Amino acid sequence: MSESTLLDGKALSEKMRVSMQERIERLVQAGNERPVLATILVGSDPASATYVRMKGRACEAVGMLSERIELPGQTTTEQLLKVIDTLNANPQVRGILLQHPVPEQIDERLAFDRIDATRDVDGVTTLGFGKISFADQAYPSCTPAGIMRLLAEYDIALSGLKAVVIGRSPILGKPMAMLLLNANCTVTICHSRTVDLAREVSEADLVVAACGKPRLLRGEWLKPGVIVVDAGYNPGNVGDADFESCAQKAAYITPVPGGVGPMTITMLLEHTVQSAERHAGLMSD
Ligand code: NAP
Repeated sequence: MSESTLLDGKALSEKMRVSMQERIERLVQAGNERPVLATILVGSDPASATYVRMKGRACEAVGMLSERIELPGQTTTEQLLKVIDTLNANPQVRGILLQHPVPEQIDERLAFDRIDATRDVDGVTTLGFGKISFADQAYPSCTPAGIMRLLAEYDIALSGLKAVVIGRSPILGKPMAMLLLNANCTVTICHSRTVDLAREVSEADLVVAACGKPRLLRGEWLKPGVIVVDAGYNPGNVGDADFESCAQKAAYITPVPGGVGPMTITMLLEHTVQSAERHAGLMSD
């Protein structure tokens, strides 16, 4: 039997969403417009359409408005940039989410970077990433932001820990490494060319598995008392860590589902609420 403490992202998400509802009502009662999260979907990819619907519904459930913009699959970069400019110019829009991936004729990086930094609640702009890296005010990518929030909820002291992040994607591994570095961890980033992953992981006090490979992280590699964060989400509710063997070694571990997963949309909402609070002058940076 494992004695790991489960890091419960579902419970934390529910708690945060209740508090968000109260914050939004306070904003509105103080005479501010109800904040809008705008989502842009280009094309008709069914998985993307589902994600965008989920985000819109989650937004409405906490009392914000959602503006859903659906553009045809043949939209050009110029047309998309104009849509983003219009949203950037609307003071009620406090967050803009461009659903990834966009059709290949679109310059995705140009489109992401057109999003005004104060509305980049999904943490996709180059400027936002730079600011995060310099520990400046910006909204980090939502999954790593959710992981940091979850670790904080359990009062896990990060300073001085050896952290290993498995994965270096722009939305997960890289921003995760920056956030842990800013929290004074000593960070190693592993990827598909890492020569001896097991050895790197064996020295870690904290491991974040974010590689998209089912059950890649094995308990045998871990030292006792480690913190295991599984950001993976593979078909069949399987994470990037082998839960059973990792739980034998870990002091703390995130389950899949119910660990990191629920935190991602919650952080998108949280960032949008923060953006509205900053716009209303209710939050100091
Ligand atoms: P990604 O863009 O495919 O990146 C995967 C990363 O893992 C790459 O950096 C890759 O290295 C590395 N990698 C692949 N195989 C490896 C191996 N054998 N050993 C070490 N590193 C390896 O994936 P992602 O978007 O970051 O997502 C990662 C995981 O998180 C997936 O399971 C995904 O489903 C999940 N995810 C969950 C949420 C959520 O809301 N919970 C959100 C986003 C993603 P190279 O750079 O060398 O190719």
